[in-house]
Amino acid sequence: MGRTIGTVRVLHPRAVRRHPAGAADCEAALTGRTLDAARRRGKYLWLSAGHDALLAHLGMSGQLLVGDPQRPPSPHVRVWFTFEDDGPDLRFTDQRTFGHMCFVPDGAELPGPIAHIAPDPFEPSFDPAGLTKRLRLKRTGVKRALLDQSLISGVGNIYADEALWRAGLHWARPTETLSGPEVSRLLAAVREVLGEALTAGGTSFDSLYVNVNGESGYFDRSLAVYGREGLPCRKCGTPVRRDPFMNRSAYTCPHCQPRPRRAHW
Ligand SMILES: [Zn+2]
Repeated sequence: MGRTIGTVRVLHPRAVRRHPAGAADCEAALTGRTLDAARRRGKYLWLSAGHDALLAHLGMSGQLLVGDPQRPPSPHVRVWFTFEDDGPDLRFTDQRTFGHMCFVPDGAELPGPIAHIAPDPFEPSFDPAGLTKRLRLKRTGVKRALLDQSLISGVGNIYADEALWRAGLHWARPTETLSGPEVSRLLAAVREVLGEALTAGGTSFDSLYVNVNGESGYFDRSLAVYGREGLPCRKCGTPVRRDPFMNRSAYTCPHCQPRPRRAHW
């Protein structure tokens, strides 16, 4: 960080589709700017430049790669940054082009386009007491709440099921009936599951972004319930059950995660 951008080349217009003024404007806005710090929230990360920010969403397959500027370009480079110091360059590479980047004026602290997204459990600004309160007010099923990016970010479908199993909570449990200790247990489980995924996938958050979407198979081996319908629960041996949930599935152990009398979808 503290490096000044020399050139910016947008190689695929889709990569800057959320930058309303277009590719040339995005290039001009970033050229000559000094990048100060990298921050992240959920599946987004941003590089601050003074009061402004370069915001990136890595989508399913996006990566921000720093390396030798002489290395051969991959066909999937979408935005290419070189720096005035002629040191390592930065390439936004994205095979499936679901990811995108945009320049956000005054976005250094928290870019406007992601202000509605709640902090994820690893951010310093994450507030467990606040989450407990908002969860209860939400009056929804606990899995639906975990997937709600305005409550907590970074938890995908797979990780929600795994965390609920570890916490011994059924996915349809109404949030307003959760006790303080249950919320704490759930939060600890979410941190554990995300933390393990991070470790298994590498030390960068980039790999977490990819894997949160279930695109990578590395985490499958350690899954306790997700995708394991009919197989024995790893705690008690009861066959894992699959329920349809929001056009997807929810996996539970019927013994370890008793269905609430009053379920909430
Ligand atoms: Zn069980």
